[in-house]
Amino acid sequence: MPLGSNSVRIAVMPGDGIGTEVTEAALAVLERLAQRHGLGIATETLAAGAFHYRETGTAMDEATFRRAEAADAILLGAMGWPDIRYSDGTEIAPQLDLRFRLNLYAGVRPFRALPGVPLALADPRAREMDLVILRESTEGLFFSRGRGVVTEEMAEETLRITRPVTERLSRFAFRLAERRAARRGRPGRVTLVDKANVFRAFAFMRAVFDEVAREFPGVSAAHHYVDAMALDLVRRPWAFDVLPMENMFGDILSDLAAGLIGGMGFAPSADVGDAHAVFQPAHGTAPDIAGKGVANPTAMLLSAAMMLDWLAGRGAGEGFAEAAAELEAAVDAAFAGGLRTADIGGRDGTAAATRAVLDRIGG
Ligand code: ATP
Repeated sequence: MPLGSNSVRIAVMPGDGIGTEVTEAALAVLERLAQRHGLGIATETLAAGAFHYRETGTAMDEATFRRAEAADAILLGAMGWPDIRYSDGTEIAPQLDLRFRLNLYAGVRPFRALPGVPLALADPRAREMDLVILRESTEGLFFSRGRGVVTEEMAEETLRITRPVTERLSRFAFRLAERRAARRGRPGRVTLVDKANVFRAFAFMRAVFDEVAREFPGVSAAHHYVDAMALDLVRRPWAFDVLPMENMFGDILSDLAAGLIGGMGFAPSADVGDAHAVFQPAHGTAPDIAGKGVANPTAMLLSAAMMLDWLAGRGAGEGFAEAAAELEAAVDAAFAGGLRTADIGGRDGTAAATRAVLDRIGG
């Protein structure tokens, strides 16, 4: 449903650990952008996550889910805590339930080298890195979550790949590559990451992807085995554009890619479906640094920019796209201007980083 101009409702779920800290940063920045661009944004903060589970016995109650579902977009910090677990030993992760229940099949994770941020790779071409991991987020190995069989003698979890989801994911990948090509002024390239040499499920995924690729003659299509991709993400990450892949592969390679651009604090993400979307940093609740005020809010701020851009695409108005572009530019300018967060060896904590970005957004 197209949104009415300047009338968006955002469900905000700060969650646990540094999720709450980076959410505070995002809200301050969104408020400034809303004033500046005349955006009508109404936020509603909803409690869910591990500590909520400890207090109430439910990680995300049904009424909360319904309110999130009814919002135009969901902005989420991070959820989970090592010591708070379900009785089967698994972590509290209602954010995964949101992905499954709202059919958010496309996990969009852009990885871009920010100016001034020290990179893991010495090769100067690493500065040109600008790729998107498109993590399928509703099936693959995660389909088995909560359904696995464990006996005294064995444990079994099953991977599922379906035609409709693979078609949707592939189309999403090619459309994204088209939009990026227009923005970047160079042809788009989509590379499916799979393990089609070993598993029939991935040969199937590849066949469906190839069918969809024919609908997009203007975008080049290729395949790469996941093990080779782990190598090439280190050897030549600048050579890739849009990388759709199975859920678990995306989970793992996202962390690898984040390591290349400065760490988890720099990796934004959007979980997008046909009707809903959740925007959250790719990182978790970081218990090791939670409560110290040192979390890098960049991943969250860039996720908020993705949200504004997505809302613009859904008809919220050009002001939302302008605000998204201004926020991204402000983050770049802050780092180019010397901002150095603690995760990259600097002294700037969450509040200082937020201020540095706010300072670069016109008043
Ligand atoms: P999950 O399984 O929920 O993804 P995790 O424990 O595997 O959680 P993170 O919580 O993302 O992973 O933390 C991984 C490492 O990255 C930790 O050392 C953490 O301190 C660091 N980290 C994550 N996010 C940030 C951030 N925003 N700023 C600084 N450091 C971060």
